[in-house]
Amino acid sequence: MTQFQAPSQKKLKDISLYINGQFVKSNSQETFENINPFTNEPINHIAAGDAADIDAAVAAAKRAFHGEWGQMKLDERLDYVYKIGDLIEKHSEEIAVLESYDTGLPISQTRKMIARSAKNFRFYAEMVKSHLYGEAYQVDDEFINYSVRKPVGVAGLITPWNAPFMLETWKIAPALATGNTVVLKPAEWSPLSANRIAEVINEAGLPDGVFNVVHGYGETAGAALVRHPDVPLISFTGETTTGSEIMKNGADALKQFSMELGGKSPIIIFDDADFDRALDACTWGVFSFNGERCTANSRVYLHEDIADDFIKKLKERVDRIRVGDPMDPNTQVGPLVHRNHYDNVKGYLQLAKEEGCEVYSGQVPAEHSRGNFVPPTLLLNADQHLRVVQEEIFGPVIAVMTFKDEDEVIEKANDVRYGLAGYVWTKDMQRGHRVAQAIDAGMLWVNSQNVRDLRTPFGGSKHSGIGREGGFYAFEFYTETQIIHVAMKDHYIPQFGK
Ligand code: NAD
Repeated sequence: MTQFQAPSQKKLKDISLYINGQFVKSNSQETFENINPFTNEPINHIAAGDAADIDAAVAAAKRAFHGEWGQMKLDERLDYVYKIGDLIEKHSEEIAVLESYDTGLPISQTRKMIARSAKNFRFYAEMVKSHLYGEAYQVDDEFINYSVRKPVGVAGLITPWNAPFMLETWKIAPALATGNTVVLKPAEWSPLSANRIAEVINEAGLPDGVFNVVHGYGETAGAALVRHPDVPLISFTGETTTGSEIMKNGADALKQFSMELGGKSPIIIFDDADFDRALDACTWGVFSFNGERCTANSRVYLHEDIADDFIKKLKERVDRIRVGDPMDPNTQVGPLVHRNHYDNVKGYLQLAKEEGCEVYSGQVPAEHSRGNFVPPTLLLNADQHLRVVQEEIFGPVIAVMTFKDEDEVIEKANDVRYGLAGYVWTKDMQRGHRVAQAIDAGMLWVNSQNVRDLRTPFGGSKHSGIGREGGFYAFEFYTETQIIHVAMKDHYIPQFGK
């Protein structure tokens, strides 16, 4: 692990685009300001790419796909993928510090995410080596048909600002390992670690053009990537409304999309649940990553027999959660990523009051008034039809509701437009399976917080997404299946016009 000096309140050097193996200014020379969420002071300026830069990046990626990268032997390609993982590990402390500085995520949490990011590369190198294969179909004695999986081309990756490095790497790793080339458009509020991945890939010595980063706004750089005729794949993680807009914009070019979208996931706690473990999981599941977590359990349904005790304990936890400097290893909740998002979350707290909830919040230390801090918050006496129960708030806020029986809670859990994740706590395992399977969501956990093996599918149903990432599922997106039909004898062919 390399030693890295925490930037604390320092300004950092400005950030360029990474196109065709070079760090370059944007074609327009435009930049935008990157702000520290802890102080609301500028960190640096970021090159603002637009359609011209996307054109250059896609052209470089296309050349690399049809050139050196496309023709490279598998072992050599995968050696590069392993090397990226090794370099992330080598620079992991520095990347974690940058990530926390840029996003406000607590350093204890970004450290874990960066370690996981390195694993994404090793995992996909191994997956491709051992599991990316086709099938063969013997058709009597007449044909042998076989399928091959081929890389598709230039993959456009569009990523959000929550857990940015982690989410970028879990798209980049399968895209590169399966042989595609990449243009990444990272979120404008979290450019530091996206630039660092470009530096890492540059250090790994990948051929020019295999990996490119175009920073910039969604409506300009992002939209240009989506519309580009030479980009057949768009993998998007972000808000549901943005996903829908992107699908419209890519429709004329018949893009293939992978959509990882928003969530409003329930945690259901039955009266027989392990109370203390459920409390730990519920608290961590909504307040980790500052609540800016797609799979956050942002709605809790408590069986009425345990509700009073559970709410009492939740209040105690909220009072004690350590809110503070994201660089402090003891911090559990840091500032939200940007002032605009802070205003948005605060707006929801005001709305909750207007909708009749009791809003119970923890404390933000007075010395942190410059930061985008929203304290951990419970929305008590919430009701299913409220906007604060139906809409994704994406902050450290949980709506608290009660239920009497299984049918009622399943109906309530499913009564939102999202279907990303869900959590069930009960010691009755028949009920655990039954309720988990009855919930309309892509990922369920029973008696567990959100832990995920890299082999398992990740993604949501309903308005939370289309397709799955992770494990084999990434192969479905990043490779094209081709079938070759080969005749083994002179089979009958109709003789039209003979
Ligand atoms: P966002 O939709 O605002 O932005 C995501 C990315 O899309 C950014 O890079 C942005 O610049 C770009 N973008 C915006 N408009 C675009 C357009 N018209 N064309 C192309 N690109 C465009 O999302 P966000 O606020 O950055 O992230 C938070 C959201 O992401 C939440 O809804 C959260 O639930 C979701 N999320 C989902 C998952 C998942 O796996 N399901 C994971 C993390 C975050």
